[in-house]
Amino acid sequence: MKVVESVAGMKALARRWRKDGKTIGLVPTMGYLHEGHLSLVRESKKRADITAVSIFVNPTQFGPKEDFKKYPRDLARDSAYLENGGADCLFHPDAAEIYPPGYRSYVRVEGLEDRLCGRSRPGHFRGVATVVLKLFEIVGPDLAFFGAKDAQQVLIIRRMAADLNLDVEVVTCPIVREADGLALSSRNTYLSAEERKAALSLSTGLRWAEKAVRAGERDAGRLVAGIRSVLEAEPLARVDYVEAVDPETLEPVAEVRGEVLLALAAYFGTTRLIDNVRLRA
Ligand code: AMP
Repeated sequence: MKVVESVAGMKALARRWRKDGKTIGLVPTMGYLHEGHLSLVRESKKRADITAVSIFVNPTQFGPKEDFKKYPRDLARDSAYLENGGADCLFHPDAAEIYPPGYRSYVRVEGLEDRLCGRSRPGHFRGVATVVLKLFEIVGPDLAFFGAKDAQQVLIIRRMAADLNLDVEVVTCPIVREADGLALSSRNTYLSAEERKAALSLSTGLRWAEKAVRAGERDAGRLVAGIRSVLEAEPLARVDYVEAVDPETLEPVAEVRGEVLLALAAYFGTTRLIDNVRLRA
């Protein structure tokens, strides 16, 4: 596996791959890799000739009071993980390489960036869209792989790719969960044993809603209230939001008809976790 730290080096390598007629898959991450990330690598290996993984803890997507500084980082562990997973290249630039002095340009995906997580994390998706556009420009992937766990993120990236005529296919991969249902996340490492138990209420609430819809429930308000009560039964959980929205516009829906995205975020101590499920009725 090639490890590249400079933008120029990454561009040159990607240029060579393209010249050799190889298709390129890109898996953008912030590192501290787990099986969720690896599932994206596996999908890329299936669909592209070359799989490049980026690890970049992107400062512009963290708010001033968020966990940028303490976000878990372990490059040695991540490289070994990727090497085993069969990635061809690890792109690991530092912040000054991506945002050199004088940096001024940002991408906004209006209307989608302010909803759900955007409400409690102002500027987050501006940072995400910007860094992903830059990664697309640097690597020039044919395919880029994102997890459905960050449903709003992948929707915003898709919208950006369509709006800006990017030559990349955005692929959404299913959420990978622990055996008990908790969605894998690098931030799970922050949780104490008690918080880890309480965090199970996220997937438990969503599973309850799925069952309710299967049993005929169509009222979005009742589904949201039911999920909230599962979370609020946990003294260690503090709900940020629970919403039933249209999966394309993220506008709240009153009724489950066609496809609906149930999305939520909650704090366990200082750790903010998200989860979601897409339902169809
Ligand atoms: P992150 O390193 O948290 O920024 O995540 C990098 C990519 O991995 C994003 O596209 C995430 O949606 C995806 N991802 C993170 N956790 C999971 C998971 N549990 N299942 C599937 N994909 C995931």
